[in-house]
Amino acid sequence: MRTTIPHLSTVRNIGIMAHIDAGKTTTTERVLFYTGVSHRIGEVHDGAAVTDWMKQERDRGITITSAAVSCRWALDGVEHTINLIDTPGHVDFTIEVERCLRVLDGAVAVFDGVAGVEPQSETVWRQADRYGVPRLCFVNKLDRTGADLSRTVEMIAERLGALPLVVQLPVGAEGGFRGVIDLVAMEALLWPADAGLGEAPETVAVPAGLAAEAERARSRLLGAVAEHDEEFMETYLGGDEPTEAETHAAIRRLTLSSAATPVLCGTAFRNKGVQPLLDAIVRYLPSPLDVPPVEGRPADDGAPLAALAFKVMSDRHLGRLTFVRLYSGRLETGATVLNPLRGRKERIGKIYRMRANRREEIGAAGAGDIVAVMGLKQTTTGETLCDPAHPVVLDAMDFPAPVLEIA
Ligand code: GDP
Repeated sequence: MRTTIPHLSTVRNIGIMAHIDAGKTTTTERVLFYTGVSHRIGEVHDGAAVTDWMKQERDRGITITSAAVSCRWALDGVEHTINLIDTPGHVDFTIEVERCLRVLDGAVAVFDGVAGVEPQSETVWRQADRYGVPRLCFVNKLDRTGADLSRTVEMIAERLGALPLVVQLPVGAEGGFRGVIDLVAMEALLWPADAGLGEAPETVAVPAGLAAEAERARSRLLGAVAEHDEEFMETYLGGDEPTEAETHAAIRRLTLSSAATPVLCGTAFRNKGVQPLLDAIVRYLPSPLDVPPVEGRPADDGAPLAALAFKVMSDRHLGRLTFVRLYSGRLETGATVLNPLRGRKERIGKIYRMRANRREEIGAAGAGDIVAVMGLKQTTTGETLCDPAHPVVLDAMDFPAPVLEIA
């Protein structure tokens, strides 16, 4: 059993939000696919592992109906845990969306590159504004006729009142969409026309025909970053070309303070653009250490336990599973915790990390993490679990608590 608790700075708790049909499901599936494949490659050093993984996925289907799924993604040699929290896309589930927004630390807003910003995206965006959730934008479906990144970016600014930081430019359009130019690194990431699942992009020089446009877009990006970030402004005005690390750091600061939102693009369906989106999630979205303490509880494994149950599901094999977000402290199998609202103690049964294709039993979870717990009999959605010696109620929510079936 793996009991290693990931370092807090390497955890990303995020939701993917979108207007219905914009591509939330497809993007989520691709995220789970690429993280599963890349992890397997890293672990086994064997090409055959990829084929096995793909077969397994085909046979079982990817579990994206779970309230939260964990995956791993390495950036610059550092492995990160990304917990994807399911955010209902339909506007009827607004209350559920709000509940999820309390549990996640950052979000990816997926837009349809043809339709741009649609009414439901606006609703969810405003909800995320209220909770101060830092966001990235992914303009999807650039392979479709009539898709237009610039128009969608204008809509993000005008309709959502956000400051978009366009960090990529598309290479090719519609059926000829090939990939993106990374405006920070100033290189192009290109996929084959019929990129298969798992296909990594080829990194090449910015195509000559797009060099001038890319330079202009980069100047706009750096200018906007400098205008809103003092530290970056000093480098920029000093006349030195900012390094990639300095630029990423400034974009991260602006994203974390919700002053700006980085915009990426691609086509999830045609497997182009999701791997750079994963890099951006790790680069720009917050870890639990970057968000303010809840009820004065710091994101610290050594502090007393404070956790929120945000969904109860009925699993065909395991029975009642309670999904919890830990804000501080540790949760361990066998421990006794207090549900202060009910004044009842509960015993923690097995703890699982839900992965795309399996459940991983872990003996303990740490602050900032999101896991599924067996054995809780009393606790329902919106209720707190805490250390009996240090009771705290995490802003209880009075919402109906549906028990959903998962496969
Ligand atoms: P959701 O309702 O936001 O979860 O959207 P889905 O992921 O189910 O996608 C809605 C439809 O758009 C499906 O038919 C997808 O196959 C299609 N779709 C998703 N991403 C893309 C894309 O990048 N390009 C194109 N052409 N179609 C896409």
